[in-house]
Amino acid sequence: MDTATAVDALLADIRAELPTVRLLTDALDRESYRNDETAYLPAELPAAVALPGSTDEVAGLLRLASKHRVPVVPRGAGTGLSGGAAGIEGALTVALTRMTRILEIDRENLVVVTQPGIINADLKAAVAREGLFYPPDPASYETCSIGGNLGTNAGGLCCVKYGQTRDWVLGLEVVLADGSVIRTGGRNVKDTAGYALTHLFVGSQGTLGVITEATLRLRPLPGPRATMLAFFASLEACGTAVASIIQSGLVPVTLELMDRETIVAVDEVHRLGLDREAAAMLLVESDAPGPAAAAEMDAAEAAVMAAGATSVVRAADAQEADWLRQARRLALRALEEQGTVRMEDVGVPRARVPDLLVAIAEIAGRHGVRCATFGHAGDGNLHPNLVFSRDDPAAAGLTHLVRDEIFRVALSMGGTVTAEHGIGSSRREWLPIQRGEGAVAAMRAIKAAFAPLGILHPGRVL
Ligand SMILES: Cc1cc2nc3c(=O)[nH]c(=O)nc-3n(C[C@H](O)[C@H](O)[C@H](O)COP(=O)(O)OP(=O)(O)OC[C@H]3O[C@@H](n4cnc5c(N)ncnc54)[C@H](O)[C@@H]3O)c2cc1C
Repeated sequence: MDTATAVDALLADIRAELPTVRLLTDALDRESYRNDETAYLPAELPAAVALPGSTDEVAGLLRLASKHRVPVVPRGAGTGLSGGAAGIEGALTVALTRMTRILEIDRENLVVVTQPGIINADLKAAVAREGLFYPPDPASYETCSIGGNLGTNAGGLCCVKYGQTRDWVLGLEVVLADGSVIRTGGRNVKDTAGYALTHLFVGSQGTLGVITEATLRLRPLPGPRATMLAFFASLEACGTAVASIIQSGLVPVTLELMDRETIVAVDEVHRLGLDREAAAMLLVESDAPGPAAAAEMDAAEAAVMAAGATSVVRAADAQEADWLRQARRLALRALEEQGTVRMEDVGVPRARVPDLLVAIAEIAGRHGVRCATFGHAGDGNLHPNLVFSRDDPAAAGLTHLVRDEIFRVALSMGGTVTAEHGIGSSRREWLPIQRGEGAVAAMRAIKAAFAPLGILHPGRVL
């Protein structure tokens, strides 16, 4: 059976057997599901988009897709930066955006049980109303979904203290490629029964199953944060400040870096009064309880000054703190005012941050490519953003060259080609270089065990 006939047969079955599933088949509607946030990558138009409202409907969709051998692309809010949720020609995109219900907030056990389509910020706000805190906070937290966060093992601005999404997941409900539904984990803080399937699904970018429910850990809501910006005359000094804060045993909740290109871009758009002459800036925050926050900030200020900070601004109140924090959160959108931005996501052991900063600037400078770097320096995770004009015919080749060099230099420092965005479709060629052929073969075997017909998200990650 050819692809078009298989898709037609699948859609007919969906309409007959799952009449409450919303189906988008009009080309204009499907167009919105072609790309994720990597619009600069070639992406294909999905054959159809299904918007299920329940686990049973997801299971039905996967069962029918298997029957007709039609590939499936799981999708959350489409804010990913790896091409992970981009469309595949002849495939059914299953978008979880209607499954937004919080099923339970269990105060006694400090967990929340939720459907995957809920936006991260909405979940945070709902648990905060109960005096509770769900820490993972990608900079996109107002637009990305919990399902996508689980799919990518998303990081964010407070990983340096609280870890990545994976650290907050206790259990999942997952629909496998054949439509069967399994549960992994639950509400137990400690549980070593069998293989750690929960952690295998988190970060697998929808290649092993579709997550339809998650049981997430919570903690009591911390008090107000103490917030500081520090400016530096050189990237090296800024990198040294990061290393020194980490080595001194401080555990700030945020330790974020922006280079001069990024500072100027943000200030140009938002007029925050940032020091545009500075080579780099650090955002440091503490959510330690009571007076401990100010004490932690005093120690961090001493560390940045010793590393050569040229000036320091400390927020006087919550509103000012929010304003300083915005400088970092607005970075990508501000850079996008200047051209097409290709954001990368390298990571290194934290003590190598100064070396990586210098290496990225050297590579971009040598190739004459505009590169603005910001990121989660406290995690050793930097985002070099290659800014180019979409009309520049040399951009694609040059970008590939620069990315390759940046990836290889990060790997030479014991780093990773992606710390939080995932391999998706855009970094596949570097996976065997980083992990080795043996490890990739093991990943292929795992994928084949979960999705033997190969219909689940083909060509992604592996
Ligand atoms: C301005 C901006 C800032 C960002 N900042 C950060 C940041 O600080 N940290 C960070 O980590 N990322 C960041 N991102 C990237 C992105 O927001 C995250 O990767 C986010 O986790 C994606 O969520 P989503 O709902 O948009 O998922 P999508 O993009 O729709 O999907 C992402 C991946 O997850 C899979 N997936 C989605 N839902 C499910 C499901 N229910 N079951 C199984 N697989 C699923 C998809 O197949 C895909 O592979 C940023 C993006 C932007 C645009």
